[in-house]
Amino acid sequence: MSAFKMTCVCGDTMTVDAADRAGAVAQFKGMMDEKGIAAHMKEKHPGKPVISVADCHAMIEKQVVAA
Ligand SMILES: [Zn+2]
Repeated sequence: MSAFKMTCVCGDTMTVDAADRAGAVAQFKGMMDEKGIAAHMKEKHPGKPVISVADCHAMIEKQVVAA
């Protein structure tokens, strides 16, 4: 297992342990479903429009790097 992280535009960093990058991307996508996105937007991006699951997942695919 290796650690992978992604950094949101707000500077918030999330870390997961996964076998490879694809596994990490899958885990982040699982965390950032509609509920996860709504909670994150409310806490870290107050007043900003909530992004769609598709946009968020596209961002995850670009952002995930080995930690
Ligand atoms: Zn954020």
